[in-house]
Amino acid sequence: MTAKYIFRNTFLVYEMLFVLDLFMEEKLMDRLVWFKGDIVNIDEAKVNVLSPTSQFGANVFEGLRGYWNKIDNQLYVFKLNQHTDRLKSSMKMMELEHNFSTDFLQQSVIEIIRANKFEEDIVCRQTVFLDGFGSWSATGPSEMFIAPMAKGRYYENIQGLHVCISSWERINEKSLSPKIKMGANYMNSRMGQLEAVRKGYDSAIFLNQEGTVSEGPGSCVFIVKNGALITPPLTASILDSITRSTIISIAKSELKLEVIERDIEKSELLIADEIFMCGTAVEVVPVFSVDRIMVGSGLKGTVTKDVECLYLKIVRGEIEEYKKWLTPVYKR
Ligand code: PMP
Repeated sequence: MTAKYIFRNTFLVYEMLFVLDLFMEEKLMDRLVWFKGDIVNIDEAKVNVLSPTSQFGANVFEGLRGYWNKIDNQLYVFKLNQHTDRLKSSMKMMELEHNFSTDFLQQSVIEIIRANKFEEDIVCRQTVFLDGFGSWSATGPSEMFIAPMAKGRYYENIQGLHVCISSWERINEKSLSPKIKMGANYMNSRMGQLEAVRKGYDSAIFLNQEGTVSEGPGSCVFIVKNGALITPPLTASILDSITRSTIISIAKSELKLEVIERDIEKSELLIADEIFMCGTAVEVVPVFSVDRIMVGSGLKGTVTKDVECLYLKIVRGEIEEYKKWLTPVYKR
């Protein structure tokens, strides 16, 4: 292979990536968002640089998912009620003053997804933020934006994750509660994720103040040992994850698995039969190694497969009984 040939092909690849980048950017910019009561194009949704959200991450948010069901010709939002409840709890814990009713919070989500006319899987960010010129201790004015975006599977090209145990400790109730889904908490996630990637891993698992397993930067952790599903309790410095509670419920009722919520020691990660991470965005994703030590067979295990398969069927509206967890977006 001549240097010229390599150069030409490298150039072509870069050119293709550049075009792809432009396409992605165009796709990301070409959507409508709900912003302070109006529906506007994303580039018209602007906040002032001195606002507490911009300066200090003073905002609370939800990450929701909607799934397109071709047969029903419908887009279903998964567990909208639970997301609204958690958003309201976050606002309360952050002492944000607001007049958003449950119905308003939910109808605004539906309204903006409809406005975008999505007929594909989406993710949706719903954020209540501190606007104005106040300090980090301001309690208002609270404003909201809702930004849906087309999104298929999170890890499209990854079968499983290679994770490290983070050298950073998960935030905890004595400092910054991980129960509050607020922007500022994600700076702890950021430290863990950046360190992991810098060291050549896909992601990280945090330990908490007690030194037991907490969660990932944006997901919860389950291990499988001798057929039982084990996950850290809500007191292990974790977010009260909607996917986690869904999995606990369906693993018991549908898969007839024993599910145990208890503290998990770091060493248990090294001898688990299977490990997976879960969350609204990542759904269910297996962990293939921890600190380069292979988990089980190093492939996706059968329990993980079963949980993932059932979870995806439920969120997509393929199981009638579980449509009670879905909110249809379009009037048919
Ligand atoms: N933990 C953290 C830190 C997260 O950011 C997320 C994603 N929201 C989760 C857990 C999973 O929560 P959920 O299942 O509600 O998306």
